[in-house]
Amino acid sequence: MKSWVEGGEKTPTCKDCKFYKPIDENKGDCFGHEVMAKMPAEKCPAKSFQPRK
Ligand code: SF4
Repeated sequence: MKSWVEGGEKTPTCKDCKFYKPIDENKGDCFGHEVMAKMPAEKCPAKSFQPRK
């Protein structure tokens, strides 16, 4: 599996995840749960981070 942290890039957050649907500036919906836009993808409880295309 290709890592999304390659190349020393900034850690992506929920708002960079394709499952994230923004509710407002700071939070969004993910699989029916509210998540913080800035939660680092590595903290994803579902370990389901997928970069947005
Ligand atoms: S799948 Fe994980 S990284 Fe993606 S929005 Fe949901 S909680 Fe965030």
